[in-house]
Amino acid sequence: MPHTVLYKDETHRNVLLEDFGLGGLAVQANQHVIAHGSAGMILDPGGHKVYSKVLAATMSVLGGSNLRYIFLSHQDPDIVAAVNGWLLTTDADAYISKIWVRFVPHFGLDHLVEHRLKPIPDEGMVLDLNGAPLLVLPAHFLHGAGNFQVYDSTAKILYSGDLGASLGMHYLYVEDFEAHLEYMEGFHQRYMASNKALRAWANMVRGLDIEVIAPQHGAIFKGKDMVERFLDWCEQLQCGVDLITELFKVPTAQE
Ligand code: FE
Repeated sequence: MPHTVLYKDETHRNVLLEDFGLGGLAVQANQHVIAHGSAGMILDPGGHKVYSKVLAATMSVLGGSNLRYIFLSHQDPDIVAAVNGWLLTTDADAYISKIWVRFVPHFGLDHLVEHRLKPIPDEGMVLDLNGAPLLVLPAHFLHGAGNFQVYDSTAKILYSGDLGASLGMHYLYVEDFEAHLEYMEGFHQRYMASNKALRAWANMVRGLDIEVIAPQHGAIFKGKDMVERFLDWCEQLQCGVDLITELFKVPTAQE
């Protein structure tokens, strides 16, 4: 699959990079680039297996523009593991929840670049990409305990991280929501923390003008109807601690 342009105007571009997933045990992951004029952001760049390919693809998409931001939605290795390389080879600042800043260095972080790993406060923030505002929205417990999403008001795209993720299908856009559930329901039931968190999140993002929801794994929700269906589904989903009581039983030895 080549790069996919999700939005483009004279100064602004949103590009989903070619899928560099190497198969095997590693989960498929999407890497997104936002460019505005001479500045760019990479979202959730990924781990070591894809690092050199994602870096080369990002630079080619950015052309002469500078990578200004590395956005890290949460602490997982498929997002953070290669951040040291990104900081060493670019001038970008990396942003991650303040509660993960002291854990990321365990992936290996050079002292020379440590100061460019920046904390995001719990309430989120607005990053300025060369004049284009990028809203860093709180989405804690969906699924990381310190978890953020990016809303790009120019492109009307919500980058939802692991929320909305789907695994195992081979299409880029969700066409049939009901048929899509089998690829995302189990993941959300186990990885997302609770219905309460989902409802608070849906209530927040309903205030935004969203054309596209782009998760970090799997297919994209495009168009207001599909976005609405996804929000409705989130609001009713029982997941995480809602389902935990049944699971907590002392295990017995297998015969
Ligand atoms: Fe994750």
